[in-house]
This record gives sequence, structure tokens and C-alpha cells, in this order.
Amino acid sequence: MARQGSLSINSENIFPIIKKWLYSDHDIFIRELVSNGCDAVTKLKKLSGMGEFDEPEGTKYRVDVLVSPEDKTIKFIDNGIGMTEDEVNEYINQIAFSGAEAFLAQYKDKTNEDQIIGHFGLGFYSAFMVADKVTIDTLSYKENAVPVHWECDGGTEFSMEDGDRMERGTEITLYLNEDSFEFSNEYRVREVLEKYCSFMPVEIYFTNEDAEEPEKEDIPDVVDVDTEEAEKEESVEEGEDHEVSLDEDDEEEEEDNSPKTVNEIHPLWTKHPNDCTEEEYKEFYRNTFHDYREPLFWIHLNMDYPFNLKGILYFPKINTQYDTIEGTIKLYNNQVFIADNIKEVIPEYLLLLKGCIDCPDLPLNVSRSALQNDGFVKKISNYITKKVAEKLSGMCKTDRENYEKYWDDISPFIKFGCIRDEKFNDKMTDYIIFKNMEGKYITLPEYLEAGKESYENKVFYITDEVAQSQYINMFKEQNMDAVYLTHNIDNTFITHLEQKNPDVKFLRIDSDLTENFKEELSEEESKEITEKLAEIFKKATGKEALILKVEKLKNADIPSMITVSEQTRRMAEMMEMYGMSNSMTGMGEQGETLVLNLNNELVQYVMNNTEGENTDMICQQVYDLARLANHPLKPEEMTQFVSRSNKILSILTK
Ligand code: ADP
Ligand code: MG
Repeated sequence: MARQGSLSINSENIFPIIKKWLYSDHDIFIRELVSNGCDAVTKLKKLSGMGEFDEPEGTKYRVDVLVSPEDKTIKFIDNGIGMTEDEVNEYINQIAFSGAEAFLAQYKDKTNEDQIIGHFGLGFYSAFMVADKVTIDTLSYKENAVPVHWECDGGTEFSMEDGDRMERGTEITLYLNEDSFEFSNEYRVREVLEKYCSFMPVEIYFTNEDAEEPEKEDIPDVVDVDTEEAEKEESVEEGEDHEVSLDEDDEEEEEDNSPKTVNEIHPLWTKHPNDCTEEEYKEFYRNTFHDYREPLFWIHLNMDYPFNLKGILYFPKINTQYDTIEGTIKLYNNQVFIADNIKEVIPEYLLLLKGCIDCPDLPLNVSRSALQNDGFVKKISNYITKKVAEKLSGMCKTDRENYEKYWDDISPFIKFGCIRDEKFNDKMTDYIIFKNMEGKYITLPEYLEAGKESYENKVFYITDEVAQSQYINMFKEQNMDAVYLTHNIDNTFITHLEQKNPDVKFLRIDSDLTENFKEELSEEESKEITEKLAEIFKKATGKEALILKVEKLKNADIPSMITVSEQTRRMAEMMEMYGMSNSMTGMGEQGETLVLNLNNELVQYVMNNTEGENTDMICQQVYDLARLANHPLKPEEMTQFVSRSNKILSILTK
């Protein structure tokens, strides 16, 4: 007396399509079926709250997932609302399947890039991604409800008859197809459960039906007595003292093996920030991101209006290399995991953080490109940006000490955010700080104010403390300041700052010698000497293209220096970044100027002894020393430099 029927799907080939197309993340069927179980429980709880369901005393709501590697099945059982035959007809035969059809119609012509997020919205139908045959056994919570058994073998036909389920709720069994046997494997399924179900709102238990049952007290009383007696007999055989230790073991094991839920039904983000302790935040971070370094700090998002959004964003401790910053933002929809790092919802720079965001209002059954252009999604993303900026600026204002302490870790993130997001930039501009030569953190206006007299509107920066040490020392001698900008992102950030502050020019510390370092030198005098020295140096070094400049530096000890034109260097770096030039690789000469110090006696010697026996050698050495103080030499140049240095030393002994 089974009722047969035809599923309300028009297309005969919808099943093969679903199997083939969606093979990339087949595992989502677990999310769909477990969340249906949670929904069924939530609905019943609601009815109970409204007095429409008389909850038996001691009711413990739960969802069970059971695998049988032997039978190749996976089952989902809940003790929620259940369904009557009419409801199965309506919700499964009509709604679930038509929902799937609509989903597929949307999905059909989309490329992979436009994938609907985590195939959200596929629902119950996703069971057929992995199963040839699916059965439902369900008993409605309603009084005198008749259990229903429903079966569908992946064609378009189903059958429905009275079932034999005695308890309220629903049991769904998937007979896995050959390609999907992995979903009867305990470890695989546990992994998927952890991924999607870790924070679902109803307790979820996971069992391998074929695993040997640990002899536990869960087993009904009668059996319990038997096993206990059997155990005792055994231990008597093995001797008295054994029995004692066996008992002890037993107790320990009991604690370990007591059934544990797969999930945490009240994830920290659902709590009010005032009710969360620092240790809870840290523990949640450890457990969720498996990162055993402590986060620097965090932001708890908690918003009910005008949309619902909760979450926690952590600032992780990062390495200074830009490439290794790798965050994870997990997106949830009512505690159901959707996906990691959805850049259509979360501003790109925020993906450098680690965190969870739960937004029940997100339209997730649309394609990614639609999501990107969705005004509501923009609002969400703006809200998150605003909160993050508020937290950071607030910290800078009221907890400057920590802000400075964390700056090196958080600045790549902030700078990236400023570059990428106009709104974030506007909110953060006043809270960008720079480490100066004294190791103090100052703002751009503070730096400019301090240098107003001697280097107006110029910002000197250090990218490499070692390579630029000669210049740093010169700056110190002249009481000039420079700031450290050593991170990879700083290149782009400097350009960004210059765009925002058109009057200000950023100059690497070796790019220019400001008036502060020099004594006056008339143009006439300079021109004549430059020509003379250029000829000597070009001849001595064999570099026809050498660009040379003379100055009277206040520090007479320095014979020569290299300056590197900021513009040429930036161009070359950019070209290199795009793989267009390799002449710059680390030790190029583009944009380099050799500055000779007329106040230095070596330079004076060269001028006065153009034909001297050692003049060439002095010129070569002076040139190499200047370059060495700026960048490494090429291997063959280094060889020459070392042998020349040895020669010079041996002259000293004569
Ligand atoms: P959705 O969950 O988005 O409504 P599904 O395809 O997942 O879509 O499920 C369709 C409907 O089937 C649900 O809305 C619900 O009414 C019913 N249903 C599915 N699973 C269960 C269950 N375990 N218990 C009770 N009802 C269920
Ligand atoms: Mg569902």
C-alpha cells in the first residue's frame, strides 16, 4: 500500500547533473542535513515555548550522525519536529525538490568563479550528490501522528508508506554511491563535521556504528550487570590486585569516552562582549584557528540593528614578511559555516585577520558576482570596516602604549587597509605612526613639524638599517630625523601617502644630500672641478656613464658617497616588480650619483695629483667604498676590491 509518486521536477537528468557538477565540494550535504536536523529541533523548541508542544520531562534535544563503513551508509537522526505524510509531501516532494531545481537552473550556466557560495540553498536535495538511495523515517511531534517511511532511489520516482519509527523526529539514511564511500569513513566525516558544524546550535553527536562498542554505562542496565559480572570473573582469574587497577582504569576511561558533542552550541561570538573573559577569547582563538601564538587583541562585533551581525576579529601576531600574512575569516549563517575568506562580503584587507563572522541576513543563495554588487552586503562590509577603524583609533587615543607596542605587527594590515579602502583610510589617517631614528613613534604632521626648518615637506625614510647606516650616521650628526619604512608594503604605502599629501615628498635616506650636510660652493667653481674629476674617475673606473657631483660636505672624513635618485629607483623597482627589467637586481647602478667631497683630503690629493702613481687606484677605491656603503658589489667587483685593498695595505709596509 505504498504511495508512489513522481517528484515535481521537470528534468529527467537533474540527478546526473547534480552529481557531476557539484563534485568540488560534495561534503556540503553533511552541512545541509545536519542543519536541517538542527532546524527541526529549533522549530520544536519554539513550539514548546509557545505552549503548543508539551515537552516531556528531561527532553534532551540532539542530532546524531552515524556512519557504517561496512554498510556504506551515513545517517542523520534528530529528535525535532518530525513530519507527517502531508508534510513530507509538501516539504520534500514539492518544496525541497523544486528548490533544488531552481538552484540548478541558476547554477547551470555559471562558471566556477561565479559559484554560488558553498552551494548554499541546495538543501535536502544535496543528499543525492553522494547517495543512490535515500530514505526518510519520520514521526511528527503531533498527537497520534503516524510514522512515515519515504524512499527515493535517485530516479524521479519516490515511494511513501507508513513507517515504523517509534520516537519523535526524523532519521535520514543515505546509501552512498561508489564514488562517495569516503563519507562512511569515520575520520573523513569527523573532519567535515568539524568544518561545517562546529558551532551549530543543537548538540551533535557522531558515532561509527561498526566500531567496537566501548563497554560503557550507556548500555542499558540489564546488559550492564552482565558485563560487570563478566569483567569481575575475568579479573578474579587474573588475581586480586589486578581487579583494583582495572576498576581505576575503568573510571578514567569513562570520563574520556563519555559521548562528546561535535560542536559548541554557544560559540563565543553569540555572547555579549561584557560576558566574555580574556581567557575565553584566547581559548576560542586557539581552538578555532589552531594557532598557539596568542592574538594581539580582538574586536567583538555585536549588532542587532539595522542588520544582524555578530563575530570576533582577531589581530594575529604576524611575521614582518608581507607574504606570510595569511588570515582566515570564517563566515557563518546562523552558526552554520558557509566558507572561509569570502572576499565579496569581507573587505579584502580584513582577510589578513583571523575571525568568525555570523550574519544571518546575508543573501547567500545568490552567485558571488551578485553578492559583490549587493547594496546590503556593502553595508555589512562598511560596518565591519568602521568597527575595526574605531577599535584601532580608540586604542591609539586611549592606550597609546599598546598601540605602539603592536604597531609593527598591525601596521602592514592598517596600511593595506588604507591603500585598499577609502573609508578606512579616512578614519585611520591620523593614527598612522612612524618609528623615527630615536625609536619613538610619531605621526606624519609631527615629523614634518620637527623638520620644518631644515627639510620642509620632505620625509626621509630608512628601508634597511644596515645598508643605509652611513647615511643614518650623517643624519644623526646633523640632528636630522628619518623614519623607518622597512616593510614590503611600504613601497606602495609611500606612493599612497604622496597621493594623499601632494605637498609632501618621500625620499629614501640615501637619495639626496640636503643643504644641511653641505657648505656653500659656487656654481662656477663646482662646474670646473666636476669636469676635471669626472674625467679622472671615468678613466680610472672604466665607467664612461659615471655620473659625478662635487660637494663640500661638513664632515670632512667622508671622501665619497653614492646617492640614488628616488624617482629612478622607484621606476626601476616597479619595472622589476613587473618582471620587466633585471638590471636592478639588488646591486644596480641606475640613478646612482657619485658624490665627491672636496673637503676630504683624498679627493684633494686626486685633484692635485692627476697623474700620480697611485691616483687611479685611489679613485677606484674611493668609488668602491662609496658603493659598498650603499649596496653589495657584484662578485667580480668584490674580487677586485679585495685584491686592491691588499695592495694598498702592502704599500703601508714600505
Ligand atoms: P530548507 O532547509 O532551506 O527549508 P531543505 O531542502 O533543506 O530546505 O528542506 C526542505 C524542508 O524539508 C524543510 O524546510 C523542512 O520543512 C523539511 N525538512 C527537511 N529535513 C527535515 C528534518 N530533519 N525534520 C523535519 N523537517 C525537515
Ligand atoms: Mg535545509
